Amino acid sequence: MLLINCPYCGERPEPEFVNGGQAHLVRPRRPADVSTQEWTDYLYRRDNTRGVQAERWRHARGCGRFFNALRDTTTDQFLATYKVGEPRPDAGAAPGEPRR
Ligand SMILES: [Zn+2]
Repeated sequence: MLLINCPYCGERPEPEFVNGGQAHLVRPRRPADVSTQEWTDYLYRRDNTRGVQAERWRHARGCGRFFNALRDTTTDQFLATYKVGEPRPDAGAAPGEPRR
């Protein structure tokens, strides 16, 4: 069984978790000031990376908290999990994401 390391609870079985989509999305500060295309991209456009991508996960049947994970979409292997607000552990920027 696949185990996912919740940053708050430790390793738990995968059925306790829910995938929340792409991580590190930034909501425009003033939505009324962005173009319709920018707003549409924020709401609906997501990366669909083949390989390592940063995702938001929720320990829905555990502590209930959200966290981020680096997962390889080709192998379903979790490379790292980290709390929301912490930087991406590989220190590299995702495509389209500003470097920190
Ligand atoms: Zn948890």
